[in-house]
Order: sequence, then structure tokens, then C-alpha cells
Amino acid sequence: MSISETELRELAEFQSETPILSVYLNVDPTQRTSEEYLLRLRQMLKEVEDQAVREDVAAVQRYFEHEYDWSGRGAVVFSCVAADFWRAYSLAVPVASGLTIARRPYLSPLAMLVDAYGQYALASVNRQGLELLLFRMGEMVEREVFEGEEVYKRKKGRGSSSLGRRGGAPVSSGHQKELALRNLREAARATDRFCRKHKPQRLIVAGAEPTASQFRDLLPRSLQEKVIGTMSIDPAASEPEIRERTLQLLQEVEEKRKVEAAEMAFTAAGKGREGVVGLDEVLSAAHEGRIRTLVIDRHYHARGYRCSNCRYLTVQALDDCPFCGGTFVEIPDAAEAAVTKVIEEGGEIEVVDDHPPLQQAGIAALLRY
Ligand SMILES: [Zn+2]
Repeated sequence: MSISETELRELAEFQSETPILSVYLNVDPTQRTSEEYLLRLRQMLKEVEDQAVREDVAAVQRYFEHEYDWSGRGAVVFSCVAADFWRAYSLAVPVASGLTIARRPYLSPLAMLVDAYGQYALASVNRQGLELLLFRMGEMVEREVFEGEEVYKRKKGRGSSSLGRRGGAPVSSGHQKELALRNLREAARATDRFCRKHKPQRLIVAGAEPTASQFRDLLPRSLQEKVIGTMSIDPAASEPEIRERTLQLLQEVEEKRKVEAAEMAFTAAGKGREGVVGLDEVLSAAHEGRIRTLVIDRHYHARGYRCSNCRYLTVQALDDCPFCGGTFVEIPDAAEAAVTKVIEEGGEIEVVDDHPPLQQAGIAALLRY
């Protein structure tokens, strides 16, 4: 089962007095066998034995041993047997393996995946027509074909015979150009209809030049802004190959965008407005509901404290809450708690891999005001 933004928000709202076991397991069949992944999972579960609730460990183990079909490339499970809470997702995109135990589901890797691969469309265009594919989390869910009429006739042989009578005029004659342009216009309109209907966050254009660029220029501006790249695809490419190519492109775009988000947060913080760096300041901003984009290094975790009454987060061991006078409880990961809070308030999360200043600071944010 794939996951939507709505489900992600619902997950972000779930909390429990009993800790929740969150499991991310890379199950990419091109890298290892399911037996090896199962072994890795058992090792990871053993490592958290003293923190996790035994029933959750058992439930997760049972699921992977007997129920999971090992389809897809990433598996994500949230378990809290005590609260009768269980969610399992099989993703067509890879995840980084890891276990987390907290009073909320550990969501930032999943939030990142939904953001990167949530819903995108591929418009594969040529002079004759267009194929539109809609992907959700890396799985193809819709397909639509548009074929331009005139070229359709030519494909049946009539067009080529008329060309032959005119003494083998090149295909790029004025008439053919006009037909191709008309087809491209229709293709752009079909793409617009498709995107209005399915609302993809991103659009990829595939096709040979100059057709692909001409097609891009014919799209409405709002759609042009969604185009993240153009690529060429072998017309005989299989669906998994096409999907792989689109995932690669999305990944490149994502990595670039994440680094830019981190840059923006550091620049804004440097200028002393609309940006903060470091957990202490991030938590204050989160408490005030000011975080627009949270950028966090993938491996950053930090202990912290949360007010048991108003849920104010802090890195300092205070006696009582400066906001409500409530008492603090220590939490294993204040950074993750900040992630949860930002998600709940509709902010964005960027989990960044290779940004040295962020690796040092751990966490930073761009603020709403
Ligand atoms: Zn408080």
C-alpha cells in the first residue's frame, strides 16, 4: 500500500503513552535477498530490545516473516500493539533502514519520500502524439494515450504514399511541420486536462529535441513551472525502465533542492532574519509555530525535554515549563519531536544528506516570519 499526504498528516497526529516502534527497511531486490533483509531486521530488533515493547517487536517480526510479500523496494511499519495501532506500507522507492522508538511515529524519512515521489506525471511526446503516465510513490497508477489524427493516418501508409507522389519531399516539409505543431498543441491540451484531473506535484517531459522543447513551450505557464526536467526515452523501453529513469531524475532534483533549502536556512540565519540554526533555536521557533521549512541532517538525533502539559520542547533540563508551569519529561529524540511538530503545523521537512554546515549544526529552519 502506498501513502498519501493526508495519511501522513493523520500519522503525524497519532501519539500514545506507550512508545511506538517505527521500522524502515530497505528491501531493494536488486541489492540483496529477502533472507538477508530479514536477518538485518532481526539484528536491528535485537539492538532495541531493551527500549521497545516486546509485543511490537513480535508483531513486526511476525509481519516480515509471514505476511509481507517482499514486493517493492522499501517497507515502512509503525506498531503500537498497546494502542491497537498498526500501519504497514510497501513502497516502490528505496528507504534507509532504521528503527525508532518514540511516543509518536518516526515520520521524517516517510515525509521526505512522499514529498519527493508523492505524485508525478510523465509526458512522453513525439510528433504524432503523446503518452501520459501518472506515478504515485514510484508506482504507475494512470495511463492515457493521445494520438494526433493526421499522423495516425500516415502511420497507416496513406501519408507516406502522398509524400511519395510529390517526389519524396522530406518529412519536415511545411505541411508536415504544421501537422506536427497542431498535434503538439493538442498534446499540450491533453496534458493540461490530465494534470488538472490528477494534480501531480511534478511533471517530466520525455521526447527527442526539438519536439520536447516545443511541447514544453506550448504548455500553460502553471504547468511549465511543474516541469522538473526533460529526458529522452527509447520508445521500446519497458515500464520498469521508464519508472527507473523518472525516479533517478526525481532523486537528482530532490538532492539539489534539499541542499538549496539548507543553504537558504543558513543564509537567512546569517542575516538574522527568517532563519535559525541549531536545536535550541529551532525548538523555540517550533514552539511559536514559525517554522516553514525544517532542514535536518539525516543522522542527527539529540536528547531533549518536553513539557508534559503544553508539549513545549527544549534542550535544557528545566524544573518547570516557562510557558505553563508544567513538568518536563526527557525524550530520546527532540529533533524528531520537532519534526513531528512541524509536520502537524503544515510545515515542510527536508532530510539532507551531504551538507557540511548542516552536518555540524544538525538542524536548522527557515521561518514563516
Ligand atoms: Zn508547558
